[in-house]
Amino acid sequence: MNWMRTTAAAAVLSLAALAQTPAMQPQDEEYARLVKEWTTKPEFMSPLVDHLPKAAGVPSPKDVLGYYIGSPKKLTHVADIYRYYRALAAASNRVKVFSVGQTDEGRECIVVAVSDADTIANLDRYKQDLAKLADPRALSADEAKRVIADAKPIYMFTGGLHSAETGPPEMLMELAYRLAAEESPLFDQIRRNVIVMIGAVSEPDGRDRYVDWYYRHKINEQSEADRVAGPPYWGKYILHDNNRDINYSQITMRNWLKFYLEWHPPIMHDLHESVPFMYTFSGQAPQNPTLDPILYAELPWFSNFEMTKMIAYGMPGVWTHGYVDMWSPGYLGFMSSNHNGILRMYETFGNAGANTMKRRVDAPEGGGGGGAMSATAREWYRPLPPYKEVVWSMRNNTNYMETGVLTALELAASFPKTVLQNFYEKSRNSLESGKNDAPYGYVIPAGQPDMTRVAFIVNTLRLQGIEVGRAASEVKLREGTFPAGSLVIKRDQPYGRLAKILLEKQEYPDNNLRTYDDTGWTMGLMSHADVQASADKAILNVPVERVDTLTVAGTVQGSGPVLAVIDNGANGLATLRYRLKDVNFDAVEKAFKAGNTDVPAGSFLVASSPRAKSEIETLGLKAVAIGAPPNVPKHAVDLPRLAVYTTWGSTQDVGWVRYAFDHFEVPYDLIYKERVRRGNLRDSYDVIVIPSQGRGSAKSLVFDIEPKGAPLDYKKSAEFPSLGMYGESDDITGGMGIAGVAELDKFVNAGGVLITLGASSYFPADFGLTRQVDASRPSGQFYAPGPIVEAEILKPLHPIFYGYAKKTIPVRYANGPLLRLPEEERKKWTLMRFPGGDSSVLSGLMKGANEIKNRPAVVDVPAGEGRVVMFATNPCYRWQNLGEFHMLTNAILHYNDVPKSEAGLTSDN
Ligand SMILES: [Zn+2]
Repeated sequence: MNWMRTTAAAAVLSLAALAQTPAMQPQDEEYARLVKEWTTKPEFMSPLVDHLPKAAGVPSPKDVLGYYIGSPKKLTHVADIYRYYRALAAASNRVKVFSVGQTDEGRECIVVAVSDADTIANLDRYKQDLAKLADPRALSADEAKRVIADAKPIYMFTGGLHSAETGPPEMLMELAYRLAAEESPLFDQIRRNVIVMIGAVSEPDGRDRYVDWYYRHKINEQSEADRVAGPPYWGKYILHDNNRDINYSQITMRNWLKFYLEWHPPIMHDLHESVPFMYTFSGQAPQNPTLDPILYAELPWFSNFEMTKMIAYGMPGVWTHGYVDMWSPGYLGFMSSNHNGILRMYETFGNAGANTMKRRVDAPEGGGGGGAMSATAREWYRPLPPYKEVVWSMRNNTNYMETGVLTALELAASFPKTVLQNFYEKSRNSLESGKNDAPYGYVIPAGQPDMTRVAFIVNTLRLQGIEVGRAASEVKLREGTFPAGSLVIKRDQPYGRLAKILLEKQEYPDNNLRTYDDTGWTMGLMSHADVQASADKAILNVPVERVDTLTVAGTVQGSGPVLAVIDNGANGLATLRYRLKDVNFDAVEKAFKAGNTDVPAGSFLVASSPRAKSEIETLGLKAVAIGAPPNVPKHAVDLPRLAVYTTWGSTQDVGWVRYAFDHFEVPYDLIYKERVRRGNLRDSYDVIVIPSQGRGSAKSLVFDIEPKGAPLDYKKSAEFPSLGMYGESDDITGGMGIAGVAELDKFVNAGGVLITLGASSYFPADFGLTRQVDASRPSGQFYAPGPIVEAEILKPLHPIFYGYAKKTIPVRYANGPLLRLPEEERKKWTLMRFPGGDSSVLSGLMKGANEIKNRPAVVDVPAGEGRVVMFATNPCYRWQNLGEFHMLTNAILHYNDVPKSEAGLTSDN
């Protein structure tokens, strides 16, 4: 926006505003009448939102959009949301809009700041205050006092991360207007004491796609029974997992992290929709003990205040505690608590659209520690429970959310100095904890076989604001001596606790507690990189130079016409193969020595050229030049025609595989039921990958979305430009069906290679593509929310294990099928298995670890002329287990090179 012009325009407004007393502020009578009508019971309303003041010259959402927020059957596209905020900012000197980056599809991400005019005019000063509190190393105690006295907390709201949760991006517009326009002691206090920031739409691509889908397919829904599936995609790759992107792979999520680390809002409040009528997060067990105890006091401080006020307004169904725990640090809003701020979160009750309908709400509580009790039961944390049956509207949802956030702002504005003081204390405690509590730091030794995965870890830590240093000389610690160039992460830094959380082994505190998401994420184990914790305080004094971004330059040693590119497990090896797709590559099947260098099985042989050398260097790979190809068995590394199969109803885990393939430049066709049913798959493809998908059963993979009468098309049009992306369909329901199964069976029998990952590995077993393999499920007592466990490689010479030097490796447990094969076949076809038992759990929780004892983790089963490779693991999970991904690219690049005899797979070289 034009700052000068806005300031001038707003000066006029504030004179007008000053002339008014609160009682005299004119009100929008039509708003009051309509929201009362749209609110389905009087008790679903509050005195904070039953009226809308008018302020001369300041546009309300209706003035710009043409409708009130919470109108039935109205959802707003991103461009219109931004148009509203920019109109508001142009008219009010209490509002400023920032652009904070672009999405995959080129949409903008914006943040809207609202405070009093003076604060908005001096935002940069307040930004500096918060930066000082976020990193208090340069602050004396007296200086800290002075900064806190001058500073104001930023309270940041985000909405629209989950596109089907349609209410928050609407409500936030009305909130911004109210904060800018309402004249009353409460609003004066909020504006004076707090800087409110609004992340207008957290996932703009998904918002537009969902709003298009709503107008195309959902606008006429009248009851729960009418409700159809959501669109196949939200963002380009993933749906709900944008709230699980622990390593910030998605560029939209990176925009928010970058903004966070620039502004340091002490409170970040993420608005979601699911349970009735409003759940306010308070950080129930299991809590991560590394996070500051102050945080766990602050969370119920806010949620109990909201519950207290809203119940006193007579609003039923406001509750806390029994839903989401505080274990995984991977939720987007946790960027705040991970950086010594406060994560806050609501779940309000939404209808996945903007239609009013009757809802039954006798569903059990969610995945948290509350277990399977009813969400409508009266409990200490839910004194006025929601109704079991209710007619619910978008306006009800808006009333709850907006009343909640205004109440939270009332508390923050009443105790701004407490919020700031705590933010400072938590930052300081993080430094102190690093000085006083082991481990005092982490060393990532230099000289690991594949430093590109080390770079992945280091650069992910750097993205999160964690300081990493490079040791100029040898590092001697109690744990050992590490070479010069080793990476050192000291814990006595503002985000030292986050470094510990990400790098340590996760010790789940109580096996009887359930959790909402993963229990394990240890970065070194996930990446198959060596990361050493140090209990030696001397690490804090190791001289280092700061690393901004770690880049790994590849090396080509020696000279000669042939390059042997070492297979060290680097994911860039596949990239190299594809970048030089017009060049012949061989892979050696046995290790050999090139001078002093051990060249392991799987290493590529390629003619030396400036181009090959330059790609090897860019990709951080290692090669030795040799005079002639070695005299060992080898095979050509042909590039298969590759397809990735996805259902329409479960694209997310496929999205992570697409993301990884795109990142590593592995080209593929994304195919749907339409292509599979058309048949002749073998004419088009050599390899089909079926990523983990479906609801954990073969049936859901095959039959997918249940048809409900009218076809559900997903097609781009002038009216719905965000639909039909990443694939088009006349009807996304019905799945591939039995006809599709038959085509995949033909594909395999005709020599194709089918690769199934995770839950999709039920499919070949259950539908008989692999007749001898059975797939079963663990018992009801088994519970394994994403731990990291050991897997034992049984056929080390199988090409899938090229680049894996160790016999036992860490893998993320994917809750895939428990595979069973007859004795003879098991010996022949099992490539890797789970040793099982508690001692095989490396990080996180697996309850009942004996149930997986000796079950296959990967099998390679011949079928007709082709093969089916079934991973019970998921080698491509959420951009986390980069140490396993090489198995998948190996399976693809060596698809036609599996030794025929069993002896070729087991003998040691
Ligand atoms: Zn959500």
